[in-house]
Amino acid sequence: MILETKDLKKYFPVTKSFIERLFTREMKYVKAIDGVSIDVRKGEILSLVGESGSGKTTLGKLVLRLIDPTDGRIIFDGRDITYLKGEELRRLRRHMQIIYQDPYASLNPRMKIGESIKDPLIIHNIASDQEAYKMVLNMLEKVGLTPSEHFYGLYPRSLSGGQRQRVAIARAMITNPKFVVADEPVSMIDVSLRASILDLMLRFKHDLHLSYLFITHDLAVSKYISDRIAVMYLAKIVELGDVYSIFKKPLHPYTQALISAIPVPYPRREKKLSLSGEIPSGIDIPPGCRFHPRCPFKMNICSEEEPTLRRIEEGHYVACFLHQ
Ligand code: SF4
Repeated sequence: MILETKDLKKYFPVTKSFIERLFTREMKYVKAIDGVSIDVRKGEILSLVGESGSGKTTLGKLVLRLIDPTDGRIIFDGRDITYLKGEELRRLRRHMQIIYQDPYASLNPRMKIGESIKDPLIIHNIASDQEAYKMVLNMLEKVGLTPSEHFYGLYPRSLSGGQRQRVAIARAMITNPKFVVADEPVSMIDVSLRASILDLMLRFKHDLHLSYLFITHDLAVSKYISDRIAVMYLAKIVELGDVYSIFKKPLHPYTQALISAIPVPYPRREKKLSLSGEIPSGIDIPPGCRFHPRCPFKMNICSEEEPTLRRIEEGHYVACFLHQ
């Protein structure tokens, strides 16, 4: 295992107005992550899927220790990193990288792209300036930005969205990491270019024996790239399994609705499961199964008790009373 989380929680306190502070002392929290236990195996891509507001990005930031958890544990490569700080945390960063959704925002507009890619090599004392320059040229070739000397001297504004995301990938891969969080890396890229970016990420996975936590709201993308899929709803994992099981036999009504929403070229006339309403706020999580206000199959028990994630068959888990 490269990464494990154990009952991980992140609650953000809600700021109260002056009047609210006068009348109540009770603190309110947004439960962004509410008891998540997942593992990412060495060399695999685990996709985290769900609507926006489900907590995917917060989980990605927690496992990279970009924010501190409220409770729970984070184990990276066999080591508990939950409370790591200072120099130890800085040293760990070269092994854990992130690729953001917006490649333009993640690159310094005043830095030449070669310098941006070189930066982590210098920060982590991986190479001298001269060696780092050669490593960057080599990396630019690997991500398909050739001639590399030409691209080295360009600024982000001179590149297309797809080229900028290639730079962001190069910057993440230059330290030879073991684990990468990719947060919606193709959602802002032209549809025609998405497959080539995903293929590039797959190539790095094979070449570096890399593991990814791949965050996406798009199940079609997760089907293309993942080994396993974890479906997240309102701060919890509701289904987890390998790609084949999730698409062949989705068990949770939320997963079924997400799969039904994937556009297909020649749709069959079968009844689709569609989602009504919006994902509720993390401040007022519904009691019982947190999906029950939107679930077409809800039963009496669903608003009274919370289902836990249980193993249904080898490697396939679901949190739903229909299967317990
Ligand atoms: Fe629907 Fe009940 Fe299953 Fe929740 S536990 S998904 S409400 S059937």
